[in-house]
Amino acid sequence: MEIKTDYLIIGSGIAGLRFALQAAKTGTVAIVTKKERMETSTNYAQGGIASVIDPDDSLELHKKDTLESGGGLCNEDIVKMVVTEGPERIRELISMGVNFSRREGDGESLDLGMEGGHSKRRILHTKDRTGQELEEVLLRHTEEDKNITFYENHMAIDLITQSKMIKRGIIASESRETCWGAYVLDAARNRVITFLARITVLATGGAGKVYLYTSNPDIASGDGVAMGYRAGVKVANMEFVQFHPTCLYHPLAKNFLISEAVRGEGGILLDSRGNPFMEKYHPLKDLAFRDIVARSIDLELKKSGEECVYLDISHRKASFIKERFPHIYGTCLEYQIDITSEPIPVVPAAHYMCGGLLTDNTGLTNIHNLYGIGEVACTGLHGANRLASNSLLEALVFGKRAADRASHDFEDNRHIPLPKPPIWDPGTATDSEDLVVVTHNWDEIRRFMWNYVGIVRTNKRLTRARSRVEIIQQEIKEYYWNFNVTRDLLELRNLAQVAELIIACALLRKESRGLNYNLDYPSQDDEHWKRDTVIWI
Ligand SMILES: Cc1cc2nc3c(=O)[nH]c(=O)nc-3n(C[C@H](O)[C@H](O)[C@H](O)COP(=O)(O)OP(=O)(O)OC[C@H]3O[C@@H](n4cnc5c(N)ncnc54)[C@H](O)[C@@H]3O)c2cc1C
Repeated sequence: MEIKTDYLIIGSGIAGLRFALQAAKTGTVAIVTKKERMETSTNYAQGGIASVIDPDDSLELHKKDTLESGGGLCNEDIVKMVVTEGPERIRELISMGVNFSRREGDGESLDLGMEGGHSKRRILHTKDRTGQELEEVLLRHTEEDKNITFYENHMAIDLITQSKMIKRGIIASESRETCWGAYVLDAARNRVITFLARITVLATGGAGKVYLYTSNPDIASGDGVAMGYRAGVKVANMEFVQFHPTCLYHPLAKNFLISEAVRGEGGILLDSRGNPFMEKYHPLKDLAFRDIVARSIDLELKKSGEECVYLDISHRKASFIKERFPHIYGTCLEYQIDITSEPIPVVPAAHYMCGGLLTDNTGLTNIHNLYGIGEVACTGLHGANRLASNSLLEALVFGKRAADRASHDFEDNRHIPLPKPPIWDPGTATDSEDLVVVTHNWDEIRRFMWNYVGIVRTNKRLTRARSRVEIIQQEIKEYYWNFNVTRDLLELRNLAQVAELIIACALLRKESRGLNYNLDYPSQDDEHWKRDTVIWI
C-alpha cells in the first residue's frame, strides 16, 4: 500500500505538532506516530518552558545561562536565535489557549518558576503538568485542521532515499541525496505502508530507553537517530546524555520524575542519615547544574552503598506543595509517600539526549528535504549539557522555523513528479516464534549501557560495551532479515544502533566535559576537544 502526502511528520510531540500546524497552511500533512498520539515525552514534561517574559530578565541573561551550561560547545548564534524567538512562540501558545499558571493575588501575571542553572525566574509552567497542557492544546489545533491526518500505531521503519532507489535501478543518475518519505509498519494490520512525501520530518524524540533507568516513556527508543544515521545523516555529540538527578525510587514506580522545580522551590537533597550533602560539591548546592547534582548523587551512593538518596521539600507549607506540585504530590501519595511531611526517595536516571541528527538553523539535515526537530536533533543549542527547560523551547522554535523553510522548498519542487520507490519486500521472512531473543537482547543493552556507559565512564568500560553491542547487532541482523518485522524487533534494532553511536562518540572524546565524565581523562581539554563529535556512515 502507498500513501502520498506533501509533508510526512514522524512523531506527534511538541516538535512534530508545531511543524504540522505551520506546514498545513501550504500542503497536506501526514503525522505517523507509533502509539497513541498523546504518548510522547512532551506529555510527561513537568517543569515547564524557559523564556524571557519578566521585565527584570533579559535575552542576554538567558543566553549567558545557556552558554554556561553548555560547557563551551553551544553554537552562540543558535542560542541567541532560540532565546530571541522564544517569547513570540510563547505568546502564540497562549493565544492558542495554553493555560500557563498565573501568580496568586493578581491572577494576571504569569507565575515564573526557578530551575537549576537559571539566574532568573523564567520557567513558564502549568503547575507541574506543563507538557500535558501543551500536548493537549497542540493536538486540539492539529485535529481541527483539515489538511492534517493522523496515523496512530504506525511505526516508521526506515527512510526512503534517492540512493536506495539508484541502487535498485529505479533512478538512473547520481544526484544530490534526497529523502522521499519512509516505510511505515501499520502495527494493527501488520502491513508495511510506503509513505511517499516531498518533505520528511523526523520528530521522534529521545532515546532514554537505551538505559536501564530512565525518566522517558517507552516510545523513546532513539528511532529517529537510528533511521537518520542508516540513511546517511550526520550525527553529533551522542556522548552527552543527561541524567536527571531525581527520579522516584520505588519498586512499583517505572519512570516517574521528580521535577527540578522541586529543588527550585527549596527542596534539599539528603543522605540516608538526613544530612544535606550538595554543599560538599558545588557552591550553588541543590541548584547546581544537573550533571553536577547527578554525579554527586552517584558518588554519594557509591560511597554509602545505599540504593537512593532523599529529596526533602516538607519544610514548605503543605498548602503550597499541594498547589504547586499537585501531580508529584498525588503520584507519590499513591506509593504511600506524603511529600508534605517526609522526604522523597530518589535516584538519577537517563533523561535527555543532547546529541542527535546534526541540523542547520532551520532543522535541515545534510539530506535534501529531510528535517530533524526536537529532541532527535543536535542544533547547537545545548552543547555539552542542556539547561533545564530549554528543550521544549528548542522544539517549539525549530518546529516553526523548519516548517517555514520546508514550505519554501516545497513550493520550489511541488511540480516535480514523485519517484516510484519499490514496495516493502518481506522476502522469505516468516513470523518468529522465538521472541525471547528480542527481550533478552533488549535487556542486555539497557544493563550494559547503565553499568558501562552511564554517569561516570572509563575507557575499559566503554570498550567492553562496544564489544557487547557488536555481538548483539550481528544477532539482530540475522533476526531482522529472517523474520517479519515487529515493533519490538524494530525498536531493538534502533536501540542497538543508538547504543553503538553513544559508545562511539564517548570513545572519541578524550576529555571530560559537560555530561561526558571519563575517569581516564578527568579534565577538560579545550585545545583538542572544544568541538562537536560528528559521525556518519
Ligand atoms: C518526564 C520528563 C519530564 C520532562 N520535563 C521537561 C521540562 O519540564 N521542560 C523541558 O523543556 N523539557 C522537559 N523534558 C524533555 C522534553 O519533554 C522533550 O525533550 C520534548 O518533549 C521532546 O519533544 P519531541 O517533540 O522532540 O519528542 P516527543 O515529545 O518525545 O515525541 C516523539 C514522538 O515520536 C514518535 N515516534 C518515535 N519513534 C517513532 C517511529 N519510529 N515511528 C513513528 N513515531 C515515532 C513517538 O510516538 C512520539 O509521538 C522532559 C522529559 C521527560 C521524559
